[in-house]
Amino acid sequence: MFGMSLELSVLPSGYIQTNAFLLQDRERGEAILIDAPHFVWVDVEPLLKESGCKLVALLLTHGHYDHMGDGCRIQGMGVPTYGHKDDEPLYSNPARMLPYAYPPDIKLDPVPINHWVDDGDTIELLGHKIEVRHVPGHCPGNILFYFPELKSAFVGDALFAGSIGRYDLPGGDFTVLEKSIRERIYTLPDDVEVMPGHGPSTLVGDEKETNPHVRP
Ligand SMILES: [Zn+2]
Repeated sequence: MFGMSLELSVLPSGYIQTNAFLLQDRERGEAILIDAPHFVWVDVEPLLKESGCKLVALLLTHGHYDHMGDGCRIQGMGVPTYGHKDDEPLYSNPARMLPYAYPPDIKLDPVPINHWVDDGDTIELLGHKIEVRHVPGHCPGNILFYFPELKSAFVGDALFAGSIGRYDLPGGDFTVLEKSIRERIYTLPDDVEVMPGHGPSTLVGDEKETNPHVRP
């Protein structure tokens, strides 16, 4: 269990083990998915069948191919998508990232975004308030989804346990990333669990204390 009646499933999927997060509320009969790497639907569908939950939203942390390979398919089933406008060029033309993708012949479909969200916006899903924070620097449109009541933040590729996102890809910038982490992640309460796009979760307080790349 995760929070009051929410169940969290962490589903690393796709070519480079990108974390997708499925949040299900059996009482409401609703679920949301955060990020949609290639082939994640193969894992999500049976979980929804078992719980009887309907997928009501796909939240995308950013427009990199490894986070949205199944996005087109899921949006096509009538699931509304959320993303940040600054990654619109990647959502509409993910092949821009093909030179940096693994494997190089990967199939990439554009992902239509139904709701553009920005820093300071609040989304309400599954009866929870979700705060959107803009954390660019890994790419222009990386956002995080902060669930204050669950003390969790899903941060995409901005910050990892003991590490930070790549800033050498197109649209990346270390100075911008450092500012995002300091001002938009390290300002969350210390006991908030950071759920990154790759690898294990961590705590805001632990990263502030020990992350060697960005000091508070
Ligand atoms: Zn990325």
